[in-house]
Amino acid sequence: MTNEKLTLSEKKIRLRELQKLLERYDNEYYQNDAPSVSDAEYDSLKKEALELEKFFSSDDLFGQSSVISKKVGATAKAGFKKINHTIPMLSLENLYTDNDLKEFFNRIHRDLSLPPSEVVEIDAEPKIDGLSFSARYENGVFVSGATRGDGVVGEDITENLKTIKGLPLKIENAPEILEVRGEVYMSKADFFKLNEEQEKSGGKLFANPRNAAAGSLRQLDANITKKRNLSIITYAWGEVKPSIPWKTQTEFYKYAKSWGFPIQPFFEVSTTYEGLQNFYNKVGHERHSIPFDIDGIVYKINRLDLQQKLGFIARAPKWAIAHKFPPEQALTVVRGITLQVGRTGVITPVAELDPINIGGVMVARATLHNQDFVQEKDVRVGDTITIQRAGDVIPQVVSVSMPDRPEGTTRFEMPTTCPVCGSPLIRKKDEVAFRCTNANCPAQIKEYLKYFISRDAFNIDGLGDSGIEAFFNRGWIKGPVDIFNLIKNHLDDMKKLDGFGVKSIRNLSQSIENARHIKLDKFIYSLGITGVGEATAIILANEFCTIDGLQNATFDDLTKIYGIGDKMAMDIINFFRDENKRTLISDLLNIITIENPVKIELDETNPLFNKTVVFTGSLTKFSRKDAEETARKFGAHPTSSVSKKTDLVIAGQSAGSKLETAKKLGIAVISEDDFEKLISQK
Ligand code: NAD
Repeated sequence: MTNEKLTLSEKKIRLRELQKLLERYDNEYYQNDAPSVSDAEYDSLKKEALELEKFFSSDDLFGQSSVISKKVGATAKAGFKKINHTIPMLSLENLYTDNDLKEFFNRIHRDLSLPPSEVVEIDAEPKIDGLSFSARYENGVFVSGATRGDGVVGEDITENLKTIKGLPLKIENAPEILEVRGEVYMSKADFFKLNEEQEKSGGKLFANPRNAAAGSLRQLDANITKKRNLSIITYAWGEVKPSIPWKTQTEFYKYAKSWGFPIQPFFEVSTTYEGLQNFYNKVGHERHSIPFDIDGIVYKINRLDLQQKLGFIARAPKWAIAHKFPPEQALTVVRGITLQVGRTGVITPVAELDPINIGGVMVARATLHNQDFVQEKDVRVGDTITIQRAGDVIPQVVSVSMPDRPEGTTRFEMPTTCPVCGSPLIRKKDEVAFRCTNANCPAQIKEYLKYFISRDAFNIDGLGDSGIEAFFNRGWIKGPVDIFNLIKNHLDDMKKLDGFGVKSIRNLSQSIENARHIKLDKFIYSLGITGVGEATAIILANEFCTIDGLQNATFDDLTKIYGIGDKMAMDIINFFRDENKRTLISDLLNIITIENPVKIELDETNPLFNKTVVFTGSLTKFSRKDAEETARKFGAHPTSSVSKKTDLVIAGQSAGSKLETAKKLGIAVISEDDFEKLISQK
């Protein structure tokens, strides 16, 4: 997409749109380990946002925390203890083409003020597709470990890292303080094995080894991490005291190896652009035979003194760059187009393919999204198509090979009735989706049940999607309440099923029993109200504190809440007006208990009460999100820009123009420590 023709204000609107979208994708990817779009799609949106950001000064960009060019990863996940990185853990800039590589090569010489004839050693090594970790050793003993988080604050994964066999817990002859950094990953073989086991036990399937590694490492219960076969490779360091003993990147590998850390199986030092290009091509060709996923090559200036000279930009070092591999593509034949009915009745066409191996993953189906997509690409049964996996999740249909089209194919048309229940399909104005109109459509109920037991709702992981399929099709589960009576009513029959041994029935029973106690926000989320995701469910729970309170909320009560607009308020009201939904809730309340949040009585004497506040600069004790959330609990209204309406500015380290503006406008400014004192008053 090109945005060149947009006016400045249109550019700003598009940029805001992209920032919000990328923030959502970041959370899905980094916090939930469950991306919903391919890396290629994410990368192209990010590229567009970065281009647009160049038109604005950083003060103009809707708050520092939104600026894409300064952002690394995402805030550490709630539930984990946090660890501050003394030296930030950064990301890498990307390059995609040979030309970009040449430009990187020339830029190094320019930025170091060296003539082109001067030799600069560059280390080229695989870019492992996992997630980064930092392990801290004090006097040779492993003391703590963290994820990257947002680069400044990571999640404490000390216990989880201890379960990974490759990580030495004690090292000899190490500097007093040593932080070793690298990647936690899952080998392709372990990934396939894990997914097979997950399938058997009805657990969640992982889309690719990267998600499996992230989902396995970022567990609050380290025993789960222990059961997954994770591996590490080290390629960097953080704090090292009293001083760094190595002089080059590759010399570090000698030290790391001598301490017992796994290092890259191969890397190469080059002094020419052609050398780097060869390494990239060679590894690119052989990547399928490497036992773990890699998504590119990282080039690093080898000498540390030159690295230091080049320094950093906000989110990445200037002395290193990632050269991404293009998405993996393959040709296959469409054998059929089937229709899936989703939880809300949306009908999705799916291409059934001749199974094909793309980058080590067998692909037999690919989504065709909606009628418009199929018709635009003109995908027909019998066509040969190009599909690609870009790091990823769902294989995408790229194009149809017209010369290979057999005779007699017909254009795809969406049917007029639901393929499962036969009810008429409708397409609402301004929507691309066709929907089944029957709320009792068995396919919709089945999908809703899968949603109901999902992690952010009732979290019945012992049941899983395959359990719902099996028991729904046998008529043992017709609605949510039946899940809780499953063991009582069907134990004997269940014992006769394949794959239901004593152990798996015990696990299933235990996870159903655990689910009888649920937090209010998860319960609200589990209802599947249109537009009410995880975050809105939390807001509603904190506001109304009981399900009764929410059921009886008026339009005014709802629209008063920050973040709830007219449409969502109406969707909530209509949901609770539905007699069937009210019956479901009251039936559930007979068999489960809801843990309600405690209403926070606002202390009107607290200096934060009813104040419009702005956080600026980098905070060291809170993430920006946590600080704002805490301020809200004290009755404050956090906003992102300083104006005459601002009552108070909380300035962290290196606060910039917002602090200046606050001073000019005579607005009260306090430090992060002062803020902490205010919130500990009550
Ligand atoms: P990145 O993965 O592109 O590069 C930086 C990371 O590379 C480092 O933090 C480090 O963990 C890793 N790395 C692996 N091998 C390395 C080596 N040899 N030397 C140095 N570092 C090495 O950057 P990122 O900021 O983590 O994330 C961007 C990536 O994540 C993109 O590929 C993007 O497509 C993907 N992503 C996808 C989604 C989605 O929704 N699909 C969302 C967010 C991010």
